[in-house]
Amino acid sequence: MQKLVLDHALLPDGWAKNVGIDVEGGVIRAVYRDAAPKGRERIAGIALPGLPNLHSHTFQRGMAGLAETRGPVGDSFWTWRQVMYRFLGQLTPDDVEAIAAFAMMEMLEGGFTALAEFHYLHHDIDGRPYGDIAELAARIASASHETGMGLTLLPVFYAQGGFGAAAPREGQRRFINDVSGFARLVEGARKAVTALDDAIVGIAPHSLRAVTPESLREIQALHPSGPIHIHVAEQVKEVEDCIAWSGQRPVAWLLDHAPVDERWCLIHATHLDANETRVMAEIGAVAGLCPITEANLGDGIFNGLEYLAAGGAFGVGSDSNIEISAPAELKIFEYSQRLKHKARNVLAQSEGQSTGRSLYDGALQGGARALGRAIGAIEVGHRADFVILDQNHPDLASLSADRWLDSYIFVAGKAAIDTVIVGGKSVVSQGRHRNRDAITARYKNAITRIVG
Ligand code: ZN
Repeated sequence: MQKLVLDHALLPDGWAKNVGIDVEGGVIRAVYRDAAPKGRERIAGIALPGLPNLHSHTFQRGMAGLAETRGPVGDSFWTWRQVMYRFLGQLTPDDVEAIAAFAMMEMLEGGFTALAEFHYLHHDIDGRPYGDIAELAARIASASHETGMGLTLLPVFYAQGGFGAAAPREGQRRFINDVSGFARLVEGARKAVTALDDAIVGIAPHSLRAVTPESLREIQALHPSGPIHIHVAEQVKEVEDCIAWSGQRPVAWLLDHAPVDERWCLIHATHLDANETRVMAEIGAVAGLCPITEANLGDGIFNGLEYLAAGGAFGVGSDSNIEISAPAELKIFEYSQRLKHKARNVLAQSEGQSTGRSLYDGALQGGARALGRAIGAIEVGHRADFVILDQNHPDLASLSADRWLDSYIFVAGKAAIDTVIVGGKSVVSQGRHRNRDAITARYKNAITRIVG
């Protein structure tokens, strides 16, 4: 049994001082207010529940910055996707693991303690499955083991090249499985995570572009429990193509044709009409927002004000990993709404409420639901995952309580992070991951070879 005492902690019912925590097997077994420090390891600073990162493709960290030069005409998500296909066409299993470890290390240093990895790179460079169909899923699991990142692994089902069962393109050959291949992949992914503490496996139909209505039904039938994530309504062209194919907008189609409920996380859901916004909020699906990536890719602006007013659940994800920072994702979500509505403090739900606290609480709850694990709260039965802010950071030193969160999110950002604890183990101290040097050296070698 580990016995800790946190100087300050954000508990489910608010801020508390000198919080005693008993941890066993990585799980919080008891929480005491005003605990005596004797016999407990003191964790100095401001303890937040670690934020879940509900959407990432770790390999894309390696191409961050490679698609920021203007092309001849109309740069868009679709031209970015061509750069991404060229990049991933070169990756070996060792590269995939090296990049994943680097991205997960940065996530931990950036305030995320659990990850839902939307894993769609499955096969060898020529499109043939590896001897173990789950080879690359196992590499993601290894990176999680090395870095200490909590993991919800989401093997992706990707069967078509576009709406209406279009044949896959050459750039997509590393992603493609039929339903039975996908079932073997999920089984392999389950084996790959057995050595990890508390990791789980869900499923991720890639998008409505990549499945047929029949195959979408079949993979749900094969996996009756656990998280289901899907990319949806990220791009205007995707909405137009979906209407041309089905007569319906993508989220409306999904709500009509799949049993969408709290197990589901709809990634992006950028383009929603008023009815889609209301229904999605009512059924308890999580909106998987990736504000930095959505800004980078020019996707559009989510209906945040209306969706939160309707009680909708949301979390944030680092998606393309162009910049990895939990506070920055929350900040950009709020700023997108300020730009859209020409107003301030848009996502705080009532007068007198801190915007930072509203954003952080919302992303904890929605993120935990999307990842399907007992995380996101400093509470008995939950994982002992904490992000400890430096109380002496110049932007935090004069403040207290919710102002700490406002300053963390809108001012200091991840520079305010001192210590990160996952499952009771310290993986980041003084802002640095315990294996930073080795992980960084391996990453630089891989990237220099691939890009150089
Ligand atoms: Zn994505």
